[in-house]
Amino acid sequence: MNPQSHTNRTHCIRCGECCMKSSPTLQISDLQLLENGTLRKEQLYTIRAGELIADNIRDELRLTDEELMKLREKPAGGCIFHDADGNACTIYENRPAQCAAFACWDAGEFMRVYDTPKLIRRDLVEDGVLLGLMEKHEERCGYNILEAIVKDVQARGEQALGEILEIMKFDYRLRPFVAEKLSIPSAEMDFLFGRPVVDTITMFGLKVVRDADGGFLLTTLENGGS
Ligand code: SF4
Ligand code: SF4
Repeated sequence: MNPQSHTNRTHCIRCGECCMKSSPTLQISDLQLLENGTLRKEQLYTIRAGELIADNIRDELRLTDEELMKLREKPAGGCIFHDADGNACTIYENRPAQCAAFACWDAGEFMRVYDTPKLIRRDLVEDGVLLGLMEKHEERCGYNILEAIVKDVQARGEQALGEILEIMKFDYRLRPFVAEKLSIPSAEMDFLFGRPVVDTITMFGLKVVRDADGGFLLTTLENGGS
């Protein structure tokens, strides 16, 4: 959400532009929305520390130094709770704090909310097994680890690329394994483990292609990407 994008407005005209562009990041005060059933974990996804984000506040792409949680977005963009036909928020009475504070002509209240603590996975996960798996996942697939290996690709070539592939496979296989073994909906995996590394690896200028056997191959975005 990008506050102060329309400095000539003085009130909300319910155009829906803000909801069609992106979804909110959740603040700790939004915990109640999960407790009262407005939001479900499968409607959220986690951005892990070290991941590349489009920061609308600073108007730049940057690596986040903190974990963030967002409402999922539609494939074509925009918040999943935006009803395009009715141009309305389907959870308006219970919308997240950033949405309630957002005014595209005045960033003041939005920035006050934005500066309060963010909601993170540990606010929502109490199960010791799951916490342990999240920790193990971070140890194997942390963005700090990936970044260090990517920086080494030029020096170590195939060996470094092989290590990146192993991380991606671990991340990719862990999700269905956890869903099946712990009877958790697959749709919750992006909440538990963040966005799949096979998707986010593009932040390093790399892209995954599948070979004929379904295996992973790594290529650079310049060579095989769009
Ligand atoms: S706050 Fe959002 S819905 Fe309201 S006028 Fe601004 S862009 Fe449109
Ligand atoms: S939760 Fe509602 S107000 Fe917030 S971005 Fe989504 S549709 Fe818009």
